[in-house]
Amino acid sequence: MATCPACNGGVVTPFFLKLDAWRWLVCPHCKVRLEMKPPRSVVLGPLVAPLFLLARRGHVFEVMAFLFLFATIFLLLLESVRPKVQLRKKPLPKPTIRLDIDGPSK
Ligand SMILES: [Zn+2]
Repeated sequence: MATCPACNGGVVTPFFLKLDAWRWLVCPHCKVRLEMKPPRSVVLGPLVAPLFLLARRGHVFEVMAFLFLFATIFLLLLESVRPKVQLRKKPLPKPTIRLDIDGPSK
């Protein structure tokens, strides 16, 4: 269960890998369109690579790099199990084919 940012009602969230279900997620109380909030721990990801470069310099750094990696994965999993929702700002993709009935006559 996540909390709707518009009405604070409970929203049943789909499994985080079911992207199609997430696309059509609406709040059952106020019908506002919702999307998954990207997990905060994603920002830790890019830090893993330089840590592993540092790990070549010594055993202490190696242990630190592995601990950091596991902590990042653990946080990601934790946030995926209980995803947060935010209001969907992007509008639905418009159909690319548009009938130009009232367009200028040739
Ligand atoms: Zn709501």
